[in-house]
Amino acid sequence: MKAYSILFVSLIFGCFISTAQTAQRATLNITNADIDNIKIKVTQYDWAMSRWAKIKLLADEAQKDHTPIDLPLRGGNWGHYYVDPEEGKPLIPGKYLGNWHWEHYNQSHTKTYYGDETKISKDYDGVLILTQIHDHWANKLFALSLAYRIDHNKIYLQRAIEIIEAYNKNYTKIPFHDKEGGHDFNAGTGVGRIGAQALDESVWLVKILQAISLIWDDLTVQQRLETQNSFLYPAVDMIRKCHDLGIQNISNWYNAAVGMTGYLTGNDSLIQWALYENGRGLKYQIAEGFTPDGDWYENAPSYHFYALKPIILLAETAKNNGEIKFIASIKKFLDAPLQLTMPDMQMPRFNDSRDLYLPAYNGYYEYGYARFKNENYLPIINKGRQYKGGVEKVVKIGNNFDPFDFTLLYSVAIPQKETSIPSHSLHMPLTGFDVLSSGKGKETIWLASKYDINPNHGWHMHPDALDFVLFAKGQQISMDPGTAEYGAPSHVGWDKTTIAHNSLVINQTNQNFKNDKSISFGKFNGMPYSFVKTDSAYVGVSHTRAYVIADSSTILIADWINADAVSLMDISYHQRGSWQFKQDGKKWEIPDILGYKFLKDAEIILPQSKHVFSTNIKENEIAVEALSSKPVELITAIGLGQDFEPTPYAIARYKGKELFVLWSINLDGSKDKVQYELIDKNSKPKVKVVIGKKIFYLDPTGTIN
Ligand SMILES: [Zn+2]
Repeated sequence: MKAYSILFVSLIFGCFISTAQTAQRATLNITNADIDNIKIKVTQYDWAMSRWAKIKLLADEAQKDHTPIDLPLRGGNWGHYYVDPEEGKPLIPGKYLGNWHWEHYNQSHTKTYYGDETKISKDYDGVLILTQIHDHWANKLFALSLAYRIDHNKIYLQRAIEIIEAYNKNYTKIPFHDKEGGHDFNAGTGVGRIGAQALDESVWLVKILQAISLIWDDLTVQQRLETQNSFLYPAVDMIRKCHDLGIQNISNWYNAAVGMTGYLTGNDSLIQWALYENGRGLKYQIAEGFTPDGDWYENAPSYHFYALKPIILLAETAKNNGEIKFIASIKKFLDAPLQLTMPDMQMPRFNDSRDLYLPAYNGYYEYGYARFKNENYLPIINKGRQYKGGVEKVVKIGNNFDPFDFTLLYSVAIPQKETSIPSHSLHMPLTGFDVLSSGKGKETIWLASKYDINPNHGWHMHPDALDFVLFAKGQQISMDPGTAEYGAPSHVGWDKTTIAHNSLVINQTNQNFKNDKSISFGKFNGMPYSFVKTDSAYVGVSHTRAYVIADSSTILIADWINADAVSLMDISYHQRGSWQFKQDGKKWEIPDILGYKFLKDAEIILPQSKHVFSTNIKENEIAVEALSSKPVELITAIGLGQDFEPTPYAIARYKGKELFVLWSINLDGSKDKVQYELIDKNSKPKVKVVIGKKIFYLDPTGTIN
């Protein structure tokens, strides 16, 4: 490792700048032709004009500021620590106190916190040093560089060079540090100088590199050498020495930072590493990081886009420098989210996901349409261009949008298209999702059945075998909370527990990470269905689950559970809204156990073979019938929903070895709609279901007739 590093340092410091000798400008992801196109677009289209106006405003403000650039000589901290220590919700940056200290407010502005540099998780100032100082310099540098290329006004160039020189002078004075408070290159996410991990350093550097590339040929040879040797090479040298994460969304950011530095400075060894390094390079990430359906393997929609952005940036950079082969596969990665989008164009918050409204990710599809002319992207683009939130307001994972995302760069005139993506049922056994869809327009019922088939479980996956999300009546009804900030106690304490999902908990412990599978998928008499199964979420427990959209207001979920030993079975269910109807129970003592301890207002209702409850979601009463083969207790409580939304929660609890439960989610609020009968005495029996005049049979081996 050491010998390798020395060799690497001598390779990069020994090289000459090749781009200086060529007449062609150094190009990363933004070409001369792109700049010419932007110049035309901003005179022709309102949306391009307003986009450009924002950038120019930032550039104008930045060039008017002639004060010397003062950089903090300590690095930034991990953004996930920026949470209220009492409530776990994100903090709000407050008044600047000078000398890199701020006030930090809770969400209701009733409490003020001060950073403590000696405790990493309380170093709130460190977070703002990254997001308010270094990120802003990166944004200004980009705005100035682009403004210079568009307007050719040297005032912009001058200030841009001052920013670069400030980093040339100070970058290596900022010590390495990791997000645990140490400086361990082998820590999970390595070290940074600007940030507290090599990931944050890479994300920031990619922004800087795009900016510098726009003016690289306007720098003197001396300025380029200094930038390369005092800033960029020390940064990528550090990133390359950090722990190899293999197939990982983070690795893609490392690759982009290193590869783009290589292309900018004409350093072939950096380029080769970023594109082809075995087990981690771009080629490998594209080949191994996605399922055959084009989904990033962690099955967390937020991380799909987070991994995809650096892939696009590096692939485009390679293409602009003659290596075109990485572009074609990107189409599939852009197509994939369309398959799992709910009718309101939000994506389910599976695993470590936050709100993901596809039109807010418009830039990806502006890019996709420019490259692949796929008309399926048009609803996203049309809605995205009208989206008032602005990408910069999407404060979520994958939010590393700067104000100069792909929109201005790639947008073209497009035909007006329907502003929704048509829903249809879809079987994705190689990814681990089935989508069941029926009805049209506002009557669309959409259910995603999730079964993890990937043995290569990533950091961002949750122990949620056979989880599901239901959308109907124009909104999410059965939900997955996704994740909060990783520094919030509820991240590990709730989001990453089985109980936080529509899933099965045995003996109040989390599931193991094992494989689930699809048994069958199809449509019977107009009823879409999906049968799924896991035998390895818990040792000695087999769980089969069937979903059926039985009619325009009835969604059935059938659970067959068998355990080798007597077990406490908790079938866990989260339904949005506020309680409308439930039987009175007695107070239930909330156990001090991971997951459970985040519940509030818990009650328990004595064992019965039928329980009914309902919630009210925006004027719609959604009722649930839970019919069971053995009397079960029903625990009701309030759990944590998406972004801490208080969400009604129910557990069907049974202690034993065998249980069958038929759940019916009734969109019309009816509470007495479904009957069933067990047909045989098998450990997982066949079931006759009666809904009004409709009769059909569910067989846990995967058939419905
Ligand atoms: Zn989850």
